[in-house]
Order: sequence, then C-alpha cells, then structure tokens
Amino acid sequence: MAEETGVEWCDLTFNLWRGCKKKSAGCGNCYAARFAQFNPAVLGSWGPGRPRVHAVGSYVAQVARWNERAGAGLFRECSVCGRRGFYKRVERPFPGGLLGCPNPDCVALPEQESDVARPRVFSASMADWLDDDEAVPVGWLLELLRLVHGSPNLDWLLLTKSPEVWEERLTLALGVDRIETGEKGGAFRRWLTDWLSGEESPRNVWVGTSVENQEWADKRIPALLRIPAAVRFLSVEPMLGPVNLEWALPWKPNIEAMRPTVLRDELERLAERDREHTSLIHWVICGGESGSRARVFDPCWAIDLMRQCERAGVPFFMKQMGARAVADFGGLRGTVVCPERRWPVGAEFVPSEHGKDLVKLHHKKGGDPAEWPEIYRRREFPMVGVKPRRTTV
Ligand code: SF4
Ligand SMILES: [Zn+2]
Repeated sequence: MAEETGVEWCDLTFNLWRGCKKKSAGCGNCYAARFAQFNPAVLGSWGPGRPRVHAVGSYVAQVARWNERAGAGLFRECSVCGRRGFYKRVERPFPGGLLGCPNPDCVALPEQESDVARPRVFSASMADWLDDDEAVPVGWLLELLRLVHGSPNLDWLLLTKSPEVWEERLTLALGVDRIETGEKGGAFRRWLTDWLSGEESPRNVWVGTSVENQEWADKRIPALLRIPAAVRFLSVEPMLGPVNLEWALPWKPNIEAMRPTVLRDELERLAERDREHTSLIHWVICGGESGSRARVFDPCWAIDLMRQCERAGVPFFMKQMGARAVADFGGLRGTVVCPERRWPVGAEFVPSEHGKDLVKLHHKKGGDPAEWPEIYRRREFPMVGVKPRRTTV
C-alpha cells in the first residue's frame, strides 16, 4: 500500500506542474480536474491554453530527499505487514538508531524483517508529462527529465495519454538543454540523447499509457511500443469496455504442440515472432471508475484481461472495482454462475438502470480486495530494477 499517495500501485506521486486537458473518454470524469476547480491558482486549470501551475521549490526539492534516503537504504518493504515506506529510527525500546516499520500496528522487529526497496514514483497524477499544450513550456519537461536523471534510486512511473508525442517533446527538450548548457553537454545530455536514439533507455523509467477501451488501446499502444523503455505498462483504468491486448503482449505459442500440424517454415516464423515479441508490454493495471458519476464496470472485462496477461506471463495488478461494479455474471439476481467468482459473504447488491445488479462496496473506490471475489485479488508487479546499496545510517 502506498505510504504517501492513495494510488495502490505506486509509493509516491509527483507533479512538477498541475493542469491538463481532456483527451478521450477516460478523461470524462477526471478527478484532478474536478478537485482543481476549488483552487486553480495552486492546482492548475484544465483545457487548451488554460494556465498550468508549476510546483513551488520546496515541493520539487522532495525528489532529491527521496533519492538520498532511498540511496541510504531507508526505503523498505516490510516482510511481516507488507508496508512499503521510508523507515524511521526507533529510539525505544531499541535505542541506537535502528530502523522500524512505519506501520504502528506491525510486530516486525526493527531492521530484522524488512527489505531495501526502490520507491515507485508516479508522475503525474494531476497533469500529463507529455502534454504538448502551449500552456506547458518545454522547459518544464526538461526540468522533469533532469530530476528523473538525477534520482537513480527512484523508479519513475511516467504515465501519459499522448505517447505519440514522446519523440517530438523530448527532441524539443534536448534543444532547450543545448541552448541552456552549450553544445558539449554532460551526463544528462548523453542520457537524453541515448534515450531518444534508442541506444539505451533509462533504467529508472517505466513508461505507461492509459487505455480505457479497445479504440484507445489500438491507437495508443503502437505509439507506446515505439518508446524505448526498461518497463512499458498499461493503465486500463477507468476500464470502459472489454479490451483485447493479445497482439501487444509477449506471445508464447506452444510450438511443440503445433509441430505435427504446422509446416517447418511456419514453425520457424512463429518462433522468430516469439523472440521479437518478448519485450512488448511488461505490466498491466486494471480498474473500474470511481466517483459519483462513475460509469459501469463489468468485472468480466477484468477477468478476460487477467487471462490474457496470464497466457503471456505478464504481471497483472487489479487496482479497484470502482463505484459501479456489476455484481452478477449472467446469473440470477445477486448470485453467480461460477462459484469461483462468488462475492464474499455479506456483500450487498443494488439494482441499476441497466437491469443489472451492482455490488455495493464499502470502500468508496472499490479498492479493498477483501470485498472482491477471490479470483480478482491479484496485485503483481514486474520484476525489475537494481536495489540501492544498503548502507549504515
Ligand atoms: S490525462 Fe489525466 S489528468 Fe489529464 S484530463 Fe485526462 S485524466 Fe485528467
Ligand atoms: Zn511491518
């Protein structure tokens, strides 16, 4: 569970600027846009040309602190309670500056049952890092890229709805860097140039795109696949319909099973395609929409997505059911056809205008796995990253 953010798949969030514009159906009920209306001078505005707001210096300075503390081995994952976070010194009853789990209810002994981890920083939750609107100066993107480059102990999860402008925006940022620091450049220039050319993608960057339905999966995924990245991920949230990703997931045909029926040339072609496709999408996040205007989410879409990921060996993260999850799976009112999809005992159901029952969940975003049928309780992460060196503090 995230320590300083409500987003379960990351540990920290960072917005160098705030404000955005709606791009597709998934943005329809953008929580950030609604939230920002109350304080646009600080939280930014939404729409083409509307002012975005750059963060203050003290907020930006957090990145250097997170990086330093993570590099000192202070960010850990507790093996007893699972809590991830920056560990604090425990003075009593273990004097001497030992580090203890930040969860006050946890019974783990300081320093004994935790593992050094890399913080996952989601950027941006109230903007789009590749927003190419005139209200976002390229200098801001350059500043973000310099922060990412300067914090190798953090894993940056950069999520965008505009993967198609990645090359154009980074090329512009490179141009501004040349103007500001001269032709020669340093380590940052090499890092950015190598990323743009595909020579070497940054090891601490995961690049993702949002796909709310099949239309946007078909449009955005090909653009995402053109971005060189250590990890590419998809946020299928808010999921608004079934999504078939099989063409973009690593393909694992059972070539041996096909041998008696498929010609030798064809087998070789399939094997070649398998090799080429082993690093397409590395991680899939799924969730229904939350909020008072949430659109209906059918958990069957999520099961289908989970199965696609399973077949491809891709980790799947079920984030939330949202506020309007369909309860039944084609069975009678409040019941299910398939026992493994049974809602936990005590779950309540309410009729909806679509004639289908919705499940009434206590967690307002439907984000508590204990309220879900067991099959959905899956929160996997890609196995990547180099752990920071553990040092004495
Ligand atoms: S891209 Fe994200 S922040 Fe921007 S309008 Fe859409 S949902 Fe909101
Ligand atoms: Zn703990």
